[in-house]
Amino acid sequence: MASFETDTTDDAGNARRGTIHTPHGDVQTPAFFPVVNFIGGPNEKSGGIWSRLRNHLFGEPEFQGAMFQAMSFLDFNITPESLENWRSKPIHNHFTDHKPVKPYHSQPENFTKPLFVDSGGFKLLNSDTFGDPPTEGGDDNEWAIYTNPESILDLQLDYGADIIATLDYPIPPNLNDEETTQRMEDSIDSAIRCLELLEDQSDPPAVYVAIHGHDYETINWYVGTFLDRATHIDKSFEGFAIGSLVPLRTNVEMLVDIVQGAKDAIPADRKNDLGLHLFGISGKFTALLTLLGADSFDSSSYMQAAQFKKFINREIGVSDEKFVRNPNASTHDLGDFGVDVDRTADARWVADWSKFTADQIPDDWGCQCPACEHLRRIGFEQLQVTMYDSESYDPDGKYMKSDFYALMSYHNFCVYQDEMNYVRELINDGDGKLLEYVAKMARNDVGNIKRALKRATVRDRELAQQLRERGYNRLTADQSDAEQERLDLDIPVDDQEISLEHTPEDFNILQRKDYQVGDERVLLVLPCSQTKPYSNSRTHRVVADATAEWSSKIHKVTVSGMYGPVPEQYESLSQIKSYEYVLTNAEKQRKQLVADRLVSYLEEYGSQFDAIVGYATSKTYRTIIEQAFSEYGNGVVLPKDPKMRALTEHFRATNLEELSEHLNDVLPSTPPQ
Ligand SMILES: [Zn+2]
Repeated sequence: MASFETDTTDDAGNARRGTIHTPHGDVQTPAFFPVVNFIGGPNEKSGGIWSRLRNHLFGEPEFQGAMFQAMSFLDFNITPESLENWRSKPIHNHFTDHKPVKPYHSQPENFTKPLFVDSGGFKLLNSDTFGDPPTEGGDDNEWAIYTNPESILDLQLDYGADIIATLDYPIPPNLNDEETTQRMEDSIDSAIRCLELLEDQSDPPAVYVAIHGHDYETINWYVGTFLDRATHIDKSFEGFAIGSLVPLRTNVEMLVDIVQGAKDAIPADRKNDLGLHLFGISGKFTALLTLLGADSFDSSSYMQAAQFKKFINREIGVSDEKFVRNPNASTHDLGDFGVDVDRTADARWVADWSKFTADQIPDDWGCQCPACEHLRRIGFEQLQVTMYDSESYDPDGKYMKSDFYALMSYHNFCVYQDEMNYVRELINDGDGKLLEYVAKMARNDVGNIKRALKRATVRDRELAQQLRERGYNRLTADQSDAEQERLDLDIPVDDQEISLEHTPEDFNILQRKDYQVGDERVLLVLPCSQTKPYSNSRTHRVVADATAEWSSKIHKVTVSGMYGPVPEQYESLSQIKSYEYVLTNAEKQRKQLVADRLVSYLEEYGSQFDAIVGYATSKTYRTIIEQAFSEYGNGVVLPKDPKMRALTEHFRATNLEELSEHLNDVLPSTPPQ
């Protein structure tokens, strides 16, 4: 039976080594799964590239397994009958002792490694063909594939998948809240259904539950809600797979938030047996994301780059000290460095992930990968002649363009794979070696690693501490950075201008002459949210839903990390909507200010309420509210005994029920006449 387990962890950061056990052998994590197309017909233009590339990969000892996109046959001229044939036996069997494309080709390599199959969710949702099954009122289609968990799981099982991702409903970035919530709930339903179907299977694939979300809170809610609902599942659930990441490669802060949101939502006692897979990610971010706790990656960009005749360049090192110290990736192509240097461990973090096209292969191109060794034997000149000067099929020539596209893809694969192997070695070495590596990439301005790493330290203060201990003070977020980093994030804050100029003096409830409490009987104190106004945030909306019955009797006050108590009627003031501030446990002074203002507020207004209730699960805010209630001498903080001090507990159904039960006790639903 396929399963994920953690083998070793590094003390610095959240990096770990693990194993995905499958019937086709073990995958050592962190792992890279290249996207491989198995069923593109040889008549299609790229069919010839794929068959050659598969052959290289299948024979490559470092190749650990393939990602196959379940619905990718739609990109090729595959008929429903042909798909039927593909589904008649596992993919592995189609690629065992199979015939060469041309009779005079040598015997192709067998596919023996693990097969990871996604759900094709994105393709399904962009198609009018694959709707609900006829039994649920949908239209029949000639593929007999429908957008429901049963149909997609059947397809994945027919392919002979060792690892699968559950059917998901991707969320476009600008989808409205209501539909976003609906899609997330549908995805959770679908994941639960898929896992239930597999509970009775004797040898089920490892299941990664597909999750989505564009911010920390949402992804945290998603994971927490799923785990709450999956308590009866234990057989094949092995991890989470985060989708919709491809567009985020340019928004590294959001990428960091999402990975942290998922990791933080997994309870400590489950962490070691749940893997975290990231769809659509490879290359330069994998070291950083591994440091944050990701276990596996997949992408097709190694192949896509080759289709644009591009080599991914990771091999040129730099020996000139002054360049080593400050190569600015945005203004220097590594080619500018000249450079006759061997590949050293240092060259690695200096090198940016630049690319060059096949007509610009450096004379001293020193890549030692099997693809480049092969190309060297053929001659790089031959590659250039065939790629640029010939028709695709040259009857007099020995080589076709697809031979070279395949070899360039193979080289690009080796670059990604090599990085993954290196990251694994660093974790084996332990002692924060991976942290050092990522920090050096950041210090040398490789990609956006610096921004991403700083962002990670906003929430992960332990990581910040570890970086500081190693002398990387400038890579950690201090409070002004934390504010700035938050601002770079692309989350719409209700179209409000954001200002960094705000200080706690811009709003102080204790000085508002226009404030008075109405006839509400309960004071409800909640932590602030990133989304403004607070009432629009996911954290506040779940509380509003749980307490809807008593809404007219509740006076809601939000504890802002900037201003302290903010009663609901002030949420739309511009200074309340436009500040961005993350209060962390490290900001002692600010915490004191917030707590002091809350105590003063309670002393002034607390006696006007029949009951004072706080609902908070994140450590920093919960501590402030508890401290203030205790100083004031009245008030209950719920949930009374959260499993963790973390945001995910905020969304847990049992905790929200505890809140409504408490309100039910203090507020009879029919008020006395
Ligand atoms: Zn190479």
